[in-house]
Amino acid sequence: MSTLKEKIIKPDEITKYMDGDRDFIDDGAIERTLAQHCDPDPTQVRDILAKSRAVETLTPDETAVLLHVEDPELLEEMRQTAREVKLKVYDNRIVTFAPLYMSNLCVNNCAYCGFRTGNPDAVRRKLSMDEVRRETEALAGEIGHKRLIVVYGEHPETGAEYIADTIRTVYDVEVPVRHGKGCIRRVNINAAPMSIDDLRMLHDVGIGTFQVFQETYHHDTYASLHPADTIKGDYRWRLYCMHRAFEAGVDDVGIGTLFGLYDWRFEVMGLLQHARELEDKFNIGPHTISFPRLEPAGGSPLTRHPRHRVSDEDFRRLVTVLRLAVPYTGLIITARESAELRDEVLVHGCTQTDASTRIGIGAYSETDEDQHEERQQFMLGDTRSLEELIVALAEKGIITSFCTAGYRCGRTGECIMDLLRTGQEGRFCKLNAVLTFREWLDDFASEEARTLCEPVVQQEIAEIRERVPQVYEKFMEHYHRTAAGARDLYF
Ligand code: SF4
Repeated sequence: MSTLKEKIIKPDEITKYMDGDRDFIDDGAIERTLAQHCDPDPTQVRDILAKSRAVETLTPDETAVLLHVEDPELLEEMRQTAREVKLKVYDNRIVTFAPLYMSNLCVNNCAYCGFRTGNPDAVRRKLSMDEVRRETEALAGEIGHKRLIVVYGEHPETGAEYIADTIRTVYDVEVPVRHGKGCIRRVNINAAPMSIDDLRMLHDVGIGTFQVFQETYHHDTYASLHPADTIKGDYRWRLYCMHRAFEAGVDDVGIGTLFGLYDWRFEVMGLLQHARELEDKFNIGPHTISFPRLEPAGGSPLTRHPRHRVSDEDFRRLVTVLRLAVPYTGLIITARESAELRDEVLVHGCTQTDASTRIGIGAYSETDEDQHEERQQFMLGDTRSLEELIVALAEKGIITSFCTAGYRCGRTGECIMDLLRTGQEGRFCKLNAVLTFREWLDDFASEEARTLCEPVVQQEIAEIRERVPQVYEKFMEHYHRTAAGARDLYF
């Protein structure tokens, strides 16, 4: 075992959450459950859909049933129910964010990643605080993002203290825009698993969602892709990092897997087990689930020919099943996917997406807009600008939300779980979506985009008047003040 690995991994911060010597992912049980439900009965499927409509988390057996539906009519019923559930919990809004890669220094050697130590072609660096400031100025001042997911590799030079410094730097940036100042209001992070002490440090600087992907829940596959002498080679240090996050006071977590490493049905079952474990132990499930598909990465032949490639059709199905199996959770689709597929699943299941995405280190403040394999973790499938995405959604009647109020009003953890399950969070969000969309349209949109998006704003205002008449007057007061230049008004 390397010294660094010994220094980072605290065995007692794994075993304390375990039931004896077993972790909560039982590969054999998942395989057996999947095998038992490979011929679903339509009546049973419809009973399960009724449970999803009631915003209840499904059991592994119920999820396995849905994962095996092949009948086109039943599949369409599932998709329509997924859409209903999404509208009930999240209304017709999409939250946008931008990923900001802070560093590609990494001590791990994951077979599918362009940043792995074994890739000699990777151009490596971490951002200085001046560079973090410049990147943030571009995102908050030119594009108009309010929410970031900041991304780090795993390296002693980019540990919790560096992460905390970069987050403070992002929050400090204010850039003049058409009306007042542009700034980032929420920083979510995607980083390596950490100790409880390090997570407390990040909690204290005000991180939003703490996101760690298990990559694959299948133990043997995990072992084959992550060398045992690396930190990431420890499956359980990663698996239990959300338990440590809750113990550190971070009550907003995001889980995910990299689809294409193992069988997609197994991975959906793993995500479900993870969500149920967190609900069971902490009464709070994951705020978000991510399901990126393996994309070509520099210096990684494995990514060119994945053994478990997930087709577009299976990808649509896994999104549908996740929406139905964990109905309260946010589902994130990223610019890895094509524009066409992304727009489709944003209607039927997903709730968050990125836009104007650049994943090279320092790429937002540079003029070069091309993708560079040697500077990126993987290659993007959709390079549309935020404005292009917003207009495409508006043409489908979907409003883009820049709201970050929930976090700042304490609507996180158990509180948000209750609001989501009862469909009440959608109401706050509808109001805040309109206010923040108005801000973005007036501060950043072109004349043409403003014209194309105005019908969605008016449609949302009409719905607010009809559905929540008790707050309509107060809402319109906020709306008119926002249109006149006031900023950051929220419910
Ligand atoms: S996937 Fe993450 S941990 Fe693995 S090599 Fe890439 S950056 Fe490092």
